[in-house]
Formats: sequence, C-alpha cells, structure tokens
Amino acid sequence: MDARPTERREVDLLVVGGGATGVAAACTAGRAGLRVLLVERYGFCGGGAVAGLSGTLCGLYEADALPGKPRQLVHGFVDEFIAQMEQRGALTPPLLYGKTYTRVHEPLAWRESADALLAEAGVQVLYHALCTGVHRDGDLLGGALVWTKSGLLDVRAPLTIDASGDADLLAMAGLRTWCGADGVVQNPTMIFRLQGVDTARFLAAHGFDTIMPAAVSERILAAQQLGADLPRSKIWLFTTTRPGELLCNCTRIRGADGRELNAVLADDFSEAERQGRLQVRAYARFFREQLAGCEASWVNDTGVQVGVRQTRQGAGTATLRNADVVAGSKFADGVARSPWPIELHAGNKPRVEWLFNDYYEVPYGCFVPERGEGLLFGGRCLSAEHEAVASARVTAQCFSYGQALGVAAGLAKRERLQPRDLPGRAVREALNRQGARLDG
Ligand SMILES: Cc1cc2nc3c(=O)[nH]c(=O)nc-3n(C[C@H](O)[C@H](O)[C@H](O)COP(=O)(O)OP(=O)(O)OC[C@H]3O[C@@H](n4cnc5c(N)ncnc54)[C@H](O)[C@@H]3O)c2cc1C
Repeated sequence: MDARPTERREVDLLVVGGGATGVAAACTAGRAGLRVLLVERYGFCGGGAVAGLSGTLCGLYEADALPGKPRQLVHGFVDEFIAQMEQRGALTPPLLYGKTYTRVHEPLAWRESADALLAEAGVQVLYHALCTGVHRDGDLLGGALVWTKSGLLDVRAPLTIDASGDADLLAMAGLRTWCGADGVVQNPTMIFRLQGVDTARFLAAHGFDTIMPAAVSERILAAQQLGADLPRSKIWLFTTTRPGELLCNCTRIRGADGRELNAVLADDFSEAERQGRLQVRAYARFFREQLAGCEASWVNDTGVQVGVRQTRQGAGTATLRNADVVAGSKFADGVARSPWPIELHAGNKPRVEWLFNDYYEVPYGCFVPERGEGLLFGGRCLSAEHEAVASARVTAQCFSYGQALGVAAGLAKRERLQPRDLPGRAVREALNRQGARLDG
C-alpha cells in the first residue's frame, strides 16, 4: 500500500524518458506551444549517452571508403545541441571512427545542455520520476502513472511519447513489442573512463582511428589465451575533451552461460552490472600492462548503469528493414536520415557494415504504434529489424527522431488529429522548416 495522496496533473503531452529522443521531443513540442511534462527516472537527462556513458555523438557524418573532410549529413535539433555543448567546451572535433567520424562529449555538460534547452522551451521536468503504468481505455491512451518520492502522480494527457528506450509504455499498455532476433539482443557494454593516460604517446603508438588496430586485437586475443577476462577483441578507445583521458568502449557483457544479457529482464540487468564492473577492471589492467601511454592509468568512473544497446522494439505501422539500411532506402514520409553503419555487437567481435557516400531514411510509421491512439514512441526502441537497430539507435538519429515526434505532437494538437492520421510527409515538411534539411 501507499497511504500518500495521489497528485493529478493535466498536460498536452507527456514525454517518458529524458534521453536524446525525449529531450528533443519535449523541447520541440514545448516550442510549438504545448504544455509538456517530461519524466525521467534518473536525476539528469542523457539516458544511454550519459547514464550509460556511451560518450560520443555518432551518426552525423557521411562514411567514405577513404575518409576525407568530415561531411555532416544530419541536421536540425542536433545542431542546437551541438552549439550548447560547444559553448561549454564539451565536444571534441570529429574523431576518425573507421570510415567516418564521431564527436566525443562530456557527460556533465550534456546534462546541463539538456536542462538549458528544456527550460528555454518551457518544459516541466520531473527527475527521479519512474513511469509505472499507463491509462488505457480500449485503444486510447490517456496518460500514465508516475512514481515519485512524494507519492504517485496521475498524469492525464491526450498524447504520450514513449522515449524510454525500452518501449516500456507499449509493454505496459499490452501493445506488441519484440526483442532482437528471436529474443537475442546485442550485448550490453559497461563503458568507463580511464585517467592518467599519456594520450600523445597513446596516439603515436596506436594511431588516430578510435577503432583500435588489429595489433591491439591480437594482444587481447593472446591475453585471452592466458585466461584474462577480455571477451571482446575489437575495441573502441577515444580521447576526450579532458586531458589524460580515454573513453573506453571495450567490454562485452554476457551471462555466466555465455548468453547476451537482455536489460528488460530484471535478473539479466543486475547480472550485467556485476559482470560489467568485473570486466572494467580486467580491461583496465590489460591497458596498463600492454598499451603504450596507459602505464600509469586508472579507472575514473563507469557509467551510472551498464550501457544498453537493445531491448524491446515497438511494433509500428512501418518497420525499418535491415535491407533499407544496406540499400540506403529513401521514403516520401522519411522523417530522419542516417549515414551510420550497421554496428552489430554480438559474439566476440562487433560487425561493422558501412554505407558509403549515402544515407537511409526512417519513415514516420516507425514511431506510430500499429495499435493504440494517443501514443507515439521512438529512439532506440523504434520499429526496426534487429540489424537495422544496430545502425538506427545512435545519438544523432535519436535527436532526429525526437524532433520528428515533437513536430508530430504539435501538428496533432493543432489539427486535432491522432498521430496515425497525420501524413508523414507533413511531418517531414515541418521538420525541413525547422532546419532538418531532409531534402538536401
Ligand atoms: C555501450 C553503448 C555504446 C554506445 N555508443 C554510442 C556512441 O558512441 N555514439 C552514439 O551516438 N551512440 C552510442 N550508443 C547508442 C546511444 O547511446 C543510445 O542508443 C541512445 O542514447 C538512445 O537514446 P534514447 O533516447 O532512445 O534512449 P535512452 O538514451 O536509453 O533514454 C531513455 C531514457 O528514459 C529513461 N527511462 C527509461 N524507462 C523509464 C521509465 N519507465 N520512467 C521514466 N524514465 C524512464 C531512462 O532513464 C533514460 O534516460 C551506445 C549505446 C551503448 C549501450
């Protein structure tokens, strides 16, 4: 029981989750004049990028077999976020990542940038607020229940956006979702920051590509043979905006039985945290012993939580296919674009499949539930096939999806339509008016 009184709040739009998707959606809808409430379970925004310390802004640049000058293909809300981060000196210039580029961000400034943008857009933000249930009347969703330290909050809203990353609201509403390929998801990674690195020596020895060279993978494999707990041999290490630091995306968290852990299973999520901490120490030890420049290094921190790449996908009126990513498909109702490769984290070596000098688009229907009114969803839980998610989930795209969701919320209110009745083409046009440059 909970004897505390339940508080009721009425808003035009409830956004659940303050990751890149939720922040962009809430700001965009707030600017359109909607009364927006964003609820977030942690005490800050950023989701996978901050709590998970994923650390870099991927998905902005064209890939090329011989990468030259970085060419940014993705625009819109993300440009405003970049400007906020640059003002705070919290974003590196583009760093080489295989055949493309990415920018490393400072996670404290990410939180502050989100706070500033949300405040400016007039969004009410409740931190430490966990959505625990939805109001569903037949096919109509009318808001959600949120647990806070003051007690339960009963939020009534004609439109809700599920930006939880995990499609929590769809699952709570009993709408169709699925996990990975026949339930097998990409593995989680515990990201950590290594301090005390002589980055000049590190770069001189291992090169400027943040995907470590084959020689490093071979050393990891050799250490594995000697019994070290280093189950991933192809790793990414990034210099950051702070001196002497590497952001380390290298662990591969599996269960004791070797299975990829799924963070929407409570036991798996807990096991991933424990395994993650153990593996961080194993990789940090290996770096100290084997990588030039890391001899005096130490672990500064890990993510607040293990990094979760994939859990549930929502079933939309459209689904992004693996083939769409590989072929660079375009859609008349495309509301976001992505040049990012398929970066599939499964097994002991992530597979990267590039899309050179091209991009694909994500249609509006990937964010509209196949059933259920008063609801949109998006971010990494978009409606997409398993390998397509391995590309479509990165941060620049989540900003684009959020902006599209916020635009759709504004149009739905203005036209008094359900989101499913909005033409995706109208959302695309409105996004172009906001600087998304989807038509070039
Ligand atoms: C290990 C790892 C490395 C990655 N590396 C990169 C990278 O280098 N570059 C890049 O661009 N991308 C990277 N990504 C991907 C990227 O970080 C995520 O896919 C992206 O952040 C997803 O954004 P989102 O808004 O969909 O969801 P999330 O960022 O997951 O945000 C969801 C938010 O909702 C909140 N929430 C969840 N459930 C509830 C609830 N019931 N009630 C209230 N709040 C809730 C969460 O706390 C969270 O803040 C990486 C991901 C992982 C896991």
